[in-house]
Amino acid sequence: MGLSTRRDFVRQAAMAALCCGGAVRGGSEAWMRSGEHGPRASIDADALRKLSGKVQGRVITQEAPDYDAARTIFNKAFDLRPGVIVRCASSSDVQRALEFAETASLELSVRAGGHSRLGYGMCDGGVALDFSAMRRVDVDAGKRTGRAQAGSLVRDLDEATARYGLATTSGGCPTVGVAGFTLGGGEGRLMNKYGAACDNLRSAEVVTVDGRVVVASEESNPDLFWAIRGGGGNFGVVTALEYRVHPVGEVLSGALVYESDRLPELLQAFARFVESASDEMNAFAQIVPSRERARLQIDVCHCGEPGEGRELIAPLRTLKPQSDSVRVMSYLEAQAAGGFLLKPVAHYQTNLFLRDLGGSAISALATAVQHAPAGCKLILVPLGGAVSRVKVSEMAFALRQPGFEIDIAGVWNSPEEKADVVRWVESTRDRLRPLAQGAYVNQLGDTSDQLVRLCYGENYARLVELKKRYDPKNVLRRNQNIKPA
Ligand SMILES: Cc1cc2nc3c(=O)[nH]c(=O)nc-3n(C[C@H](O)[C@H](O)[C@H](O)COP(=O)(O)OP(=O)(O)OC[C@H]3O[C@@H](n4cnc5c(N)ncnc54)[C@H](O)[C@@H]3O)c2cc1C
Repeated sequence: MGLSTRRDFVRQAAMAALCCGGAVRGGSEAWMRSGEHGPRASIDADALRKLSGKVQGRVITQEAPDYDAARTIFNKAFDLRPGVIVRCASSSDVQRALEFAETASLELSVRAGGHSRLGYGMCDGGVALDFSAMRRVDVDAGKRTGRAQAGSLVRDLDEATARYGLATTSGGCPTVGVAGFTLGGGEGRLMNKYGAACDNLRSAEVVTVDGRVVVASEESNPDLFWAIRGGGGNFGVVTALEYRVHPVGEVLSGALVYESDRLPELLQAFARFVESASDEMNAFAQIVPSRERARLQIDVCHCGEPGEGRELIAPLRTLKPQSDSVRVMSYLEAQAAGGFLLKPVAHYQTNLFLRDLGGSAISALATAVQHAPAGCKLILVPLGGAVSRVKVSEMAFALRQPGFEIDIAGVWNSPEEKADVVRWVESTRDRLRPLAQGAYVNQLGDTSDQLVRLCYGENYARLVELKKRYDPKNVLRRNQNIKPA
């Protein structure tokens, strides 16, 4: 079978499996259950005392006054109570925590920024590795590199690099952890120009599940390096990430907002704009539904010459947005103005990847918008430019075709609202499924083996082989799991 035929076969098989309703787990049933408390853990107190004596960081037990704060994660839909939280200060703390979990046969979770859509950073009853005390970022402006400890947040990395007029692709939300973000791919405002975050990773320090501290890079453990650039937290516990950074000064950035009953027309214009844009331009669109007049917000960030940026957005301006905040500002300001939620919130967000925003997709989106409950929205993230010029086989991250990631999202404050949101997210996802050719692992709010295969396409088989080598017992399974068998 030729390469492209094989690729299509893998995608079709994954889609076929995905499309049979019963085959997909993690649907509404799982969502209705989430939020239940797990059992109170009975971990041997003496063993915990010994662990405390061995780690440089902190061992936070269920009795500690800050236990509840320490177990808080961004998605409040998940209320998980680990048996113990090990707040690591070094890679040797990670080694001790891994040993402890193995000896006590406890489940393990790894938390960096705590923004997993499925609450994977915490676990019920097990050992939660917590990197929130490891947030140092060192920049070598001469070498154009930045090294972030595994607990660093997007804003830590952005602020440290900005001091030198430098930046690398980081997320749109300042409180996302760079570790979870980069290991799953990493999409942000500079990606069309400089690639996804994983494309900018030069090396990482990794503690393997058998307790070795290794460097993963093109030169050292290249297979592991291939796997962690997109394969998520499946292959080892990462303690530091070294990035390529680039000169980024001021950008032309802001939002154009349309309140309109002409949504299909506006989406067509957005698709044309994306197609004609240069690598310097990044944009995404958010549709906030309403029965009468949906609100479309197009966020742009142009990191090249501002005049060129203004020319590119001129067609969007002729569509007469009700508000237009696009202006020249620092890259840091653009990152902070993203409008993302900063406080934890109960939500369900998932996604599918579409190669184009054609008539069927637009009509599916317009229909979904008409039936959306309050608190729901659609986010359209175009992928292309530098991201699409990397070969699929280059590393685990496989979304290399130009196209649109469609994020389907809803937040709630009560069980009644939750039921409506979950129904809408799932019915919109199902409506788009026949058009989908992939999914982005970091923004999946549901899971199944079929979905994980869909994310990795032709890279999936190699990932399974590497999982067998690096984590044969599937110790690292609180993630979009690549199973070793
Ligand atoms: C509000 C919000 C905004 C977002 N914006 C963007 C965006 O602009 N672009 C984008 O691409 N994504 C975005 N995401 C998705 C985000 O990239 C993923 O949720 C990512 O996994 C979050 O990483 P984290 O470290 O914050 O999460 P955590 O919950 O701490 O970690 C998530 C998972 O990553 C793995 N992991 C984390 N740290 C390590 C480590 N040190 N070693 C090994 N494995 C580890 C583990 O499997 C863990 O369960 C957003 C998510 C939210 C909630």
